[in-house]
This record gives sequence, structure tokens and C-alpha cells, in this order.
Amino acid sequence: MTKPTEILLHDANVQVPRENIADLVRRMIALIGEDPNREGLRKTPERFEKALRFLTSGYNQNVENVLNGATFSVHYDEMVVVKDIEFFSLCEHHLLPFFGKAHVAYLPSKKVLGLSKIARLVNMFARRLQIQERMTSQIAQAIEERVSPEGVGVIIEARHLCMQMRGVEKQHGQAVTSAMLGSFRHNKQTRDEFLSLVRSKQH
Ligand code: ZN
Repeated sequence: MTKPTEILLHDANVQVPRENIADLVRRMIALIGEDPNREGLRKTPERFEKALRFLTSGYNQNVENVLNGATFSVHYDEMVVVKDIEFFSLCEHHLLPFFGKAHVAYLPSKKVLGLSKIARLVNMFARRLQIQERMTSQIAQAIEERVSPEGVGVIIEARHLCMQMRGVEKQHGQAVTSAMLGSFRHNKQTRDEFLSLVRSKQH
């Protein structure tokens, strides 16, 4: 049996109150001076709640149930790279989207992850209130803990609407974060191989 017997909700084991988010949104709409009862806005609170629940659905998952036992013992010691993983997240400072691409690589030691699981891991961490830096290191740490590789590298390139819409940053500004663990941190050749594979993405 590789299936977890129990699905843990919310990493911090927080009891999430099931209040009606839609009611809060209705109030918020009124507080910015709009009429929550006009036709175009009447169903907006419910739509927003539904969207927000989806965009934060990563709280209902954890590394265990996302990977669902999909680690395999193999003799493979070349770098595994999954690049251009699209993600959408919400910044925890403004609750506005930041989005972009994640590039994830690791050098297996004895185990590998199912390839599709890497994108699911990225999405799980993205669908929470985040800061880009933490999301980057959470992905790297989750892989390190699960398959104990020689090293892990994660690079995230993202645009932050909280910056761009408010004019804090130039329109084309992109934030790039990286987390390098193990050989990706200590071995320049490994790191350079990863970086060149990520850069060769124009095809
Ligand atoms: Zn922000």
C-alpha cells in the first residue's frame, strides 16, 4: 500500500473557518463605493469566492498526497530537468497575482520522482498565499526531502501584478529567484549545466 491512509488538510493544521467569503466580498464592493446589487456585480461575490478557493486549493494538499508514492528506485544519475512549468500564485502582501515559469532540476541519487509530479508540486505551492522566494525554496526542499538527490535547483521567473499594476516596477520587470541545494550549490559545473538547459528554452 503506497497510498497515504489519511489526507492532511492545511500544512499548519489550522482549522479553517467556513465562513462565507462571498458576504465579505459583497461588503468590500460596497466599501469601495460600488453597488453590489447592480446586475453585473450581483453574482461577483460568489464567483470570487469560488475563484479564490481554487487559487488557494494548495492548502488542501501536502507533499505526501501530491506525490502519492510516485518515487521510484532507479539507476539514473543524469540531471532531470523540467522547465517552463507555468504557474499562477497570489502574493501574500497584496493578494494580487504573480505568475510565470518554474524550472526545476535535480541530480538523482537512488530515487526519481514521477515527472508529472514536479509540475503538480509547483502548482501545490503556487496555489497558496506566497512570496516568490519562499515558493522557490519550498519546491527545492520538498524534492530534497522526498528523493534525497545529489542536488536540486529551482529557478522561478515571475511577473508581479502588485508591482506592475501599481506602477512600482517597470512594466517589463521580471523577478527571478533561485534555490540551489547540494551539488547545485557546491558544484559549478552542475549549476552551469542547469542554467544552460534553462536558457536553451527558445525552440
Ligand atoms: Zn504583492
